[in-house]
Amino acid sequence: MIKNLTLSAAKLSCIVLITLLACNRAIHSEVSPGQITAPTIAKSPKNIVLMIGDGMGLGQISAGIYANGNKSALERMEYIGLHKPYAGDQLITDSAAAATAFACGVKTYNGAIGVDMDTIAVPSILEKAESHGMPTGLVATSTIVHATPASFISHNAYRKNYEAIAEDFLDTDIDLFIGGGAKFFNQREDGKDLYLALRNKGYQVEDYFSKELLEFDFMPHEKIAYLTALDSPIPVAQGREYLGHASTKALDFLKHKSTKKGFFLMIEGSQIDWGGHANNAGYLISEMQEFDQVIGQVIDWANKDGETLVIVTADHETGGFAIQKESTMDSLVTAFTSDYHTGTLIPVFSYGPKAELFKGIYENTEIYHKMTEVLGFSVQD
Ligand code: MG
Ligand code: ZN
Repeated sequence: MIKNLTLSAAKLSCIVLITLLACNRAIHSEVSPGQITAPTIAKSPKNIVLMIGDGMGLGQISAGIYANGNKSALERMEYIGLHKPYAGDQLITDSAAAATAFACGVKTYNGAIGVDMDTIAVPSILEKAESHGMPTGLVATSTIVHATPASFISHNAYRKNYEAIAEDFLDTDIDLFIGGGAKFFNQREDGKDLYLALRNKGYQVEDYFSKELLEFDFMPHEKIAYLTALDSPIPVAQGREYLGHASTKALDFLKHKSTKKGFFLMIEGSQIDWGGHANNAGYLISEMQEFDQVIGQVIDWANKDGETLVIVTADHETGGFAIQKESTMDSLVTAFTSDYHTGTLIPVFSYGPKAELFKGIYENTEIYHKMTEVLGFSVQD
């Protein structure tokens, strides 16, 4: 018995060896004699654009596609993955813990801005990029001190400490930020004038009140702070339209400022989430459509640039939003199971050099680790 088995095993390895040799010959026969083929190593991108649709789950993406004549800029993305969005203390995350996972690579408690479970500050990818001499920017359709953008630049135990979060913008060298919340900079309860402090630090500071964003000339020798609203910007459906313009201007500006090192830019479609909280499908879909349009513009830009990795994802799903049985492509019948976030896995779309790193299923903190790996930052940086 034992002998037989050994024999069969030997026969088997023979067959395997012959097959391997045959395959090997087949591969080599495609290469003409003398020709040397080196394995192609995908080059790393210089720039990273991280686009976050707050509250943008697959239901939101699907509704956006159907409401847009069955098409989306996301169809141009090269790789798709899924991340697990749960927080450090709860299964259902909020935007602060989720953005801190992307920005700093740690699972933390809901409400935490750039700090770990013990409220200790953790350096963000934006801060690391700055210390590597890369220009950086944040663009959002919420206030710029709201949880998602804040987690990239601020360290605070609690997301609603908006005035303290605004002050943290002065502790970094961020090159550009565009979003709402002017009142946290120049109409503060503590009376401080952060417009003045920013100007003293070399920023060109403008807002919705002083100058139209469309007429605003981004001077490349300066840093840019543009506040789009006193408090939260209005929804798209009520006339907000700056995200596309702000994003492309930011890309051109950061590209112009960057040298051999690239840049890091985070763009947030903030109000998809607010449509979900309001259980308002129309609100959610119009915000989704704007974000999709901006994704298309960013892909166009990255395609021309050739050295830019674009990542599109969400922090979590909001509303348990579903497209119901009675729906047609032209007329969606939708329902919500919640007025808060849900725990469903979240898609990650990627485009450009090293986009393949973002396929698979992984923790939300991996987005940070993959981005820092691509940029060549070490753990000690
Ligand atoms: Mg947000
Ligand atoms: Zn939310």
